[in-house]
Amino acid sequence: MLEVVKADCAGSCYGVQRALDLARKAAESGKTAQTLGPLIHNPQVVQELESSGVTVAHEPSDVTAESVVIRSHGVTPHVRSEVDALGVDVVDATCPHVLRAQRAARDLALEGRTVIVVGEESHPEVEGLRAWAEEAGGRVIVAACAADLPDTIDEPVGIVVQTTQRREKLDDVVSALRARGIEPEIADTICNATTSRQGAAADLAARVDAMVVVGGKNSSNTTRLYEICAGIAPVAYHIETLDDLPAHAFAGMQRVGVTAGASTPEEQIDAVVDAIRNGERS
Ligand code: SF4
Repeated sequence: MLEVVKADCAGSCYGVQRALDLARKAAESGKTAQTLGPLIHNPQVVQELESSGVTVAHEPSDVTAESVVIRSHGVTPHVRSEVDALGVDVVDATCPHVLRAQRAARDLALEGRTVIVVGEESHPEVEGLRAWAEEAGGRVIVAACAADLPDTIDEPVGIVVQTTQRREKLDDVVSALRARGIEPEIADTICNATTSRQGAAADLAARVDAMVVVGGKNSSNTTRLYEICAGIAPVAYHIETLDDLPAHAFAGMQRVGVTAGASTPEEQIDAVVDAIRNGERS
């Protein structure tokens, strides 16, 4: 019989759970509510919120509700002022770890440093970090890895990291700078929720025939979990729901591991674990 093992640490992190709780509370408050952008990178959860009356406003100018929820990725100072100017109730669900990274970006810039944001250029959290540093008068470089660094970088240099980045990416950028004789001030803003999920996923991936990673295809931390698992387990799948798995995904296998990104609620993980245990896709 197929054994299904769930990673020791998987699914919703503190910041995502807090944002979800705040959005659900806003829905129950009797006032109309909208989130500024999809609350989390998980289409199923966004749909659930919509059915309870919490819709998505993509820009502050789209807000028509009486309260607006800022998601866990945070916003730029400019967007925050636009939201405040609307005169509606603001529910700030920015994760405290992201707030810490925003402050670090601002402080490094205030110290007169070129701020290198290690992260994905178009990610909303990174856009926020960039803006907080620029607002404080900093020169900003966004680098997903050492290869993205420009040929010339004005010193002194400070580094801040997108909370969901892999530590190897930070190490890669720091080593490249040191090789050029630049010693950066490092604000290590990588979140433990991410590293502990990555560690547990890597451990499990080494002991199974296949890994299933549950979470939004648009979730960067889920995608990174998948990359880690795909590099270790013989087979790895990144799915949002069971429907994304091929018909006989686990045929002939003995043991399957399941993990999930920080934006995946417990119920979604358990549904997948139960279905695989019950022989679906064997
Ligand atoms: S992964 Fe970490 S920083 Fe991101 S929302 Fe979760 S707790 Fe906050």
